[in-house]
Amino acid sequence: MSNLNEKMAALGTQRSVIRELFEYGKMKAEEIGAENVFDFSIGNPSVPSPALVNETAQKILAEMDPVVLHGYTSAQGDADVRTMLSDSVNRRFHTDYTADNFYMTAGAAAALCCCLHGLCCSGDKVILFAPYFPEYAVFTEGAGAEPVIIPADTGAFQIDFAAFEQALTPSVKAVIVNSPNNPSGAVYNEDTVKKLAEILEAKSAEYHHPIYLIADEPYREIVFSGTRVPFLPDFYRNTLVCYSWSKSLSLPGQRMGYVLVPSAVQDFEQVYAAVAGAGRMLGYVNAPSLFQRVCAACADETSDISIYETNKNLLMNSLRDMGYHVVEPGGTFYMFPRSLEQDDVAFAERAKELNLLIVPGCGFGCPGHVRISYCVPTSRIEKSLPAFEKLAGMYR
Ligand code: PLP
Repeated sequence: MSNLNEKMAALGTQRSVIRELFEYGKMKAEEIGAENVFDFSIGNPSVPSPALVNETAQKILAEMDPVVLHGYTSAQGDADVRTMLSDSVNRRFHTDYTADNFYMTAGAAAALCCCLHGLCCSGDKVILFAPYFPEYAVFTEGAGAEPVIIPADTGAFQIDFAAFEQALTPSVKAVIVNSPNNPSGAVYNEDTVKKLAEILEAKSAEYHHPIYLIADEPYREIVFSGTRVPFLPDFYRNTLVCYSWSKSLSLPGQRMGYVLVPSAVQDFEQVYAAVAGAGRMLGYVNAPSLFQRVCAACADETSDISIYETNKNLLMNSLRDMGYHVVEPGGTFYMFPRSLEQDDVAFAERAKELNLLIVPGCGFGCPGHVRISYCVPTSRIEKSLPAFEKLAGMYR
């Protein structure tokens, strides 16, 4: 018998379904040619970072004292970086944050882990709304808390409030929301956000402790015409925002994001300290020094994300014409149509036989659906349409 943590070994051994499909796609591409594999498995941005990203990185590398640049920064992130960032956020959201409200992290994943470890004690519960990013369950359990899944509102992918209220027991410490949403592409509208805030206020008062809202927002800027993303700290005081430049600046490999802890959060100093303490305990030390500086300088920029809307329209309209049921995404680069049979795993397997790589919804806590990741060249969508049509034909 091995003398190690079996749970960790299991996590390290089992690839996620998404990674499994992605690896399969690469193997298949070698076998039959990349142009014949319609890989819609993974959420790797398909548009390059804006030119300013590389220009800034090159300028910093050329001009900055390398001892400082390659050295440790403050654990919470370089002070100038956090000031530039607070200025950017204040300009865009009409807020009055300072550097002290920001804690720089290696992407949204680390930001979420800092929040969950910082807030949760063993036995606490954390509410997740299906469909949800599968790593939330891993991160929540890693923080010693128990995920509680609220079934999806499959009509519009907003929130099933009756189920939510029932699940909000005194042991719930935090609620994670992700809007714009991976995998549905849904954006919570203002009515949803107001009702969510009202319920959280009422239950926090009833239980005499704050229930924290963790807003995971790596897709904040990737929204389509006519859609607005409400800024959650405007609606609910005890909101912590987890942000990332992985998607908006197409920088997932550089690992850069932050936790925003607004001063309005109850016991702000303690909460910020707990987030920082979690970063320390997890051994994060500080977020990558070069890209802290690059992202701060590019905080008002995005990649050319217009292709995602072009892709959304082409794919959604084509799929609907073929008879698929698709809730229109308000943002991101995912859509989440119903599978044409109840068993989404069997459906995705059938798709795979046609070299269409799509992800079963059960991994997102929402069976009967599949995720299509359309951060791909538009030509891949065009070429894949006959395969989607053939798949639909199998169920007519
Ligand atoms: N949250 C959601 C909803 C995501 O989709 C992802 C990545 O795909 C993450 C968090 C993790 O993002 P990061 O690369 O910034 O750690």
